[in-house]
Amino acid sequence: MSLKVSSRLEWVAQSEIRNMSIECERLGGINLSQGVCDLEIPEPVRRGAQQAIDEGYNVYTRYDGLQELREAIAHKHKQFNGLEVDPEGEVIVSAGTTGAFYCACLALLEPGDEVIVFEPYYGYHISTLLATQARPAYVRLHPPGWTFTEEDLEAAVTSRTRGILVNTPANPSGKVFTREELEAIGRFATRHDLFIFTDEIYEYFVYDGRRHVPPAAIEGIGERTITISGLSKTFSITGWRIGYCICDRKWARPIGWFNDLVYVCAPAPLQIGVARGLLQLDAGYYQQIAREYQEKRDRICDALTRAGLDPVVPQGAYYVLADISRLPGDASKDKAMFLLQETGVAAVPGEAFYHDEAGSQLARFCFAKRDQVLDEACRRIARLASRLM
Ligand code: PLP
Repeated sequence: MSLKVSSRLEWVAQSEIRNMSIECERLGGINLSQGVCDLEIPEPVRRGAQQAIDEGYNVYTRYDGLQELREAIAHKHKQFNGLEVDPEGEVIVSAGTTGAFYCACLALLEPGDEVIVFEPYYGYHISTLLATQARPAYVRLHPPGWTFTEEDLEAAVTSRTRGILVNTPANPSGKVFTREELEAIGRFATRHDLFIFTDEIYEYFVYDGRRHVPPAAIEGIGERTITISGLSKTFSITGWRIGYCICDRKWARPIGWFNDLVYVCAPAPLQIGVARGLLQLDAGYYQQIAREYQEKRDRICDALTRAGLDPVVPQGAYYVLADISRLPGDASKDKAMFLLQETGVAAVPGEAFYHDEAGSQLARFCFAKRDQVLDEACRRIARLASRLM
C-alpha cells in the first residue's frame, strides 16, 4: 500500500504538553503542565447556557456569532478596554481564541509570509502559522523583565514580514507588555506596514496592581490590529470553545468567511452563556480573579524558591517559568521527567517554548488549580530541597 498520512502532520506533531500530560496520568501525578483551569464556572454563565438550550438556541448561528454575544463583547470592549466597536461587522465569534487566530491567519496571510513571534512562545501560535503556510520569525525576550528593543524587532524583518504577534499577558513568560513597549511595537508595525495580531486571552490575569493595555488602544494602529481573545480562562470554560476577533470590518468579513468554512459557528447555547456572563458579572468578578490567581502565583513561586528552582515571578497569566538547572539530566525533558518521577508533579520542559536550545534549563508550571491540588503540588515541590542537597 502506498497510502500515507500527509506531510502536514509535522505541523501538529505530538506536543510536549500533551506528552507530559500522558506521562503524568500514567504515573498518577499532579498535572501542572496543561493550562486547564478546573475552577468553578460563574453562575450566570452556567445557568445562561443551560437556559439557552431550553430557549431554543440549538441551531446554527450566523457565521460571525449571535447578536446577543457580539453586543456583549462590544460592551465589554468599551467598558474594560475603552474601545468602541460595531458589533454589526467588526466582531467575529469563533471556536475559541485558537479558532479566531487560525481564521485570521487564513484570511490575512499569504503562503510564505513571515510573522514575528516573541519567544518564549505559546506553541499553538507557531503551529497555527505553519498550518496556514506562514512562517514564524523569532524575537527573544530577556528575563527577568522579558525585555526587548526596537533593534531586536528590526533585526527580524525581511521582505516577507507581514505581521507581528503580541500575546499579553503572555504564556509562558507571564509578561504583561507595557504601554511604552506596545507603542514601540506600534511604531515598528507602522514603519513596515504590518498586521498586529494579538492574543489577550489572559487579559484579566494581571498582578501586583498592573493593568492590561490592549494593543488596539495604542494611537494610530487600530486599523492594522487584529484583537483576539476568548473566555476559556476567564470563565473556566476551556471545553466550550468560545473566542472572538475584533478588527476593522474590511478584515472582519473575510475572517468570518473562514470561520464559517472551518467551524460554521461556535456552539450556540454556549454563546448565550458567555453573553449573559459578560453582561451580568460586574468588575468585582474580574478583580477577584486577579486577586485569587496572584495568591496562587505567590504560593507556587514560594515552593519553587524553597526547592532551589528559581522562578521568574510572572506579571500576569497563570504560568511560571522556573530554572531547573539543579535537576539531573541534560535536556529540560530529562529534568522534567526526573521532577515527575521524584515528586509526582508534571511541568512542561522549557524547550517547548523556544525554537532552539534556549529553554533547556527551564520548565513551565501552571498554577490554575484548585487550592487543595495546588497546595499538595507545592508541598511536593518544596520537599525536593532536601533531596537536592
Ligand atoms: N492563547 C494562549 C496564549 C493560551 O495559553 C491558550 C491556552 O492555553 C489559548 C490561547 C487557547 O485559547 P482558547 O481555549 O480560547 O482556544
